[in-house]
Amino acid sequence: MKHLLKISSGRYADEDASQYRWQLWLRGFSYERSTEAWVRPVGELGVRRYIRYAKARGLRYELLDKNLQRNTVYKARWVRENPPFLGMYLCTYCGRIVLAKNITVDHIVSVGRAKTSLRYSRSGRDVNDIRNLCGACRDCNTVKEAKGGLWVLRGKIFRHKGMRLLRLAFRLLFLCAVTALAVYLWQYGGVPEEWLSPFL
Ligand SMILES: [Zn+2]
Repeated sequence: MKHLLKISSGRYADEDASQYRWQLWLRGFSYERSTEAWVRPVGELGVRRYIRYAKARGLRYELLDKNLQRNTVYKARWVRENPPFLGMYLCTYCGRIVLAKNITVDHIVSVGRAKTSLRYSRSGRDVNDIRNLCGACRDCNTVKEAKGGLWVLRGKIFRHKGMRLLRLAFRLLFLCAVTALAVYLWQYGGVPEEWLSPFL
């Protein structure tokens, strides 16, 4: 499988790709003036080696493979396939009710993460695939950014509408139980004695 690897300067001054320009040039990378980055098509064998090379020098790298690029239509497609209910959505991550105009469409495995993931590239999955998209409130989308781990797990579970509704039902049930208990305590001024009898 062919990859297109891009290497550019890191975050700090001493991780400047231009100081490695000869090395990169000798390794077959060509300079892209518009992005100030070095690009080279690499085969399955070379890609690990060049990623190691970039990592060791603190340089940024990303795969420019086609299936890892954000496209321009993913939002519209998600909205088309997930019409709002009464003008509302449930946030995939926190479960809160969001007005349709405030919903954001999030990549569950973020584009930034996918671009540095050989595994993702090899899988051939498109980062804009509907299975990698979910609806999120602005707060969650801002906090999540490119995080992985539990965020991705939550996204994968709750991108299914049934799971979101189930979560909402559990929360409402819990709320009802707490309210009922509070009303009971307020009415009778305490927990009934028989509830405590096992501990007394
Ligand atoms: Zn949220």
